[in-house]
Formats: sequence, C-alpha cells, structure tokens
Amino acid sequence: MHLNTFQAAESDSPLDPVASARDIDSAHETSAREIVDSAVREFGDSLAILTSFQREGLVVLDLVLGVAPRTPVLTIDTGRLPASTYDVISEVEKRYDTRVELIVPDAAEVDSMLSLYGRDLFVESVANRMLCCQVRKVRPLERYMTRNPGISGLFLGLRRGQSDTRANVDFIDRTTEPTRINAIADWSADDVLRYTLDNSLPEHPLYAAGYTSIGCDPCTRAVSSGEGERAGRWWWESEADKECGIHFTPDGRAEREVDVLLRDLLAHTKR
Ligand code: SF4
Repeated sequence: MHLNTFQAAESDSPLDPVASARDIDSAHETSAREIVDSAVREFGDSLAILTSFQREGLVVLDLVLGVAPRTPVLTIDTGRLPASTYDVISEVEKRYDTRVELIVPDAAEVDSMLSLYGRDLFVESVANRMLCCQVRKVRPLERYMTRNPGISGLFLGLRRGQSDTRANVDFIDRTTEPTRINAIADWSADDVLRYTLDNSLPEHPLYAAGYTSIGCDPCTRAVSSGEGERAGRWWWESEADKECGIHFTPDGRAEREVDVLLRDLLAHTKR
C-alpha cells in the first residue's frame, strides 16, 4: 500500500495501525538505525541534530535521541516561523527532556535588510529571496558552527524523494564541515508517515492543513493533491530552484545578484 502524504494528512483516519506495522519498510528503518549507531560511534559527543520540526526531522530526532539522548537539538529561528512551530518545539522539549537551541539571525543585518528592501523582499525576485535566506538562515548557521567548532557531525532530515535537487543526497556527506548525516535519505514519504504514526511522534499541526513541507510562514503554503512535496515552498517562483541557501546550488546569475545584494546590505549594517 502506498499512501500519498497529502491524502493521509487530509484523512480523518489516515492509517490502520495493523496495516501500518505490516507495511512499513523495515529495511529502510534498519538501515537508518545502523547509520545513526555508526555516527554515534564515530562522532560521539561532537554530534548535533538540526531540524525545522517537519516530519523528517522529528523521525531523525527520535532515532538519534533514542540512542544518544544528550545530543544537542538545534533549529534556526528565522524570525518568520509559523507560531505553531514553537508549539512543536515545546512538545519536543517535554517529550524528550531536552532543550532546543534557537539559532537566530544577526539583528543588525536584519535591520539593514528591512530598511533597504522591506520585510517581504522575497516576493520581489529570486535574488531577494536568497538574500533573505542568507541573512535569516545561512549566515546564522555559519556563525553558529564557527562558534561551536566542537560539532563535527550534524544530523539532518533530507530525503532523496523530496525534490529533484535532493535526488543524490548522501547518507554521510563528508565534503562539508561539519559532516552531514542524512540517515533517512532513502525513505519515502510513506516510510516517514508510518514511523511517525507507529511511534506517536509529535506532529506539526500544519500537516493537517494540507502542508507537505514546512518552513517560514510567508514562504510556505498548503499543496493540492498531485503537486510535488515542496511545491508549497516559494510557490510564486515558477522557474526558480525551490531550494533555499543551506542546501542550494545556485545558478551563476542568481548567485552574483545575491552576492551584490549581500555586499550592499553588509555595507549598510551598523555595528
Ligand atoms: S524562507 Fe522566506 S522568510 Fe524564510 S528566510 Fe527564506 S525568504 Fe526569508
């Protein structure tokens, strides 16, 4: 049985628990557990989990904290998150007896961006959207990692099936610092949903409203049946790549435009 994630989110009774247990791809789950175990053995106390509290991130969090409960949990608080994301954070902190560390943008950079381009600059152009993601996501994460060189392995929740640009995501990506670990890279959306239900994981409330991908509030919407999983991200960009800066390989033109915008912004930033 293959259940479309959107259909499941819309359904009053998305999965029969018995069928769920029977249908879950146990090979994928076993493989993910092995990758997590191996990472814990290799990186020990220098691991962290980075999540935006989508289903994938919560599956990874559950797998990792199940064997290494003190692993730090990080999230990027862009300042534009849906209010309900903070409810999920509170639920996670309670359930796993952990504290989620919020990585926040530099206030002076945000002030410059707003005064130069306005609060909703991202709708104006791809370059503006990338600039906003640079200021609110990419640069804060880079700064955090620079300040915390002890983190050498970072668990993420990327899946190959989420979009074409993620089709070649590695389980372990050692080309970056820190090493990125995608233990559920080969899972389907069905695998993620079944693990979520089988383990009664916390669930972001926006899934019930038809979202299949959850990020910043103004840049994410619910999708219709038949649309891609990430179709609700930056939906007004018909031709542009749907990835944001953290996992994004930009085309040359957009990269140059955003670099120019970023240079201008930093020149205007008062310290
Ligand atoms: S997703 Fe939207 S609001 Fe969030 S950082 Fe990117 S452009 Fe800005």
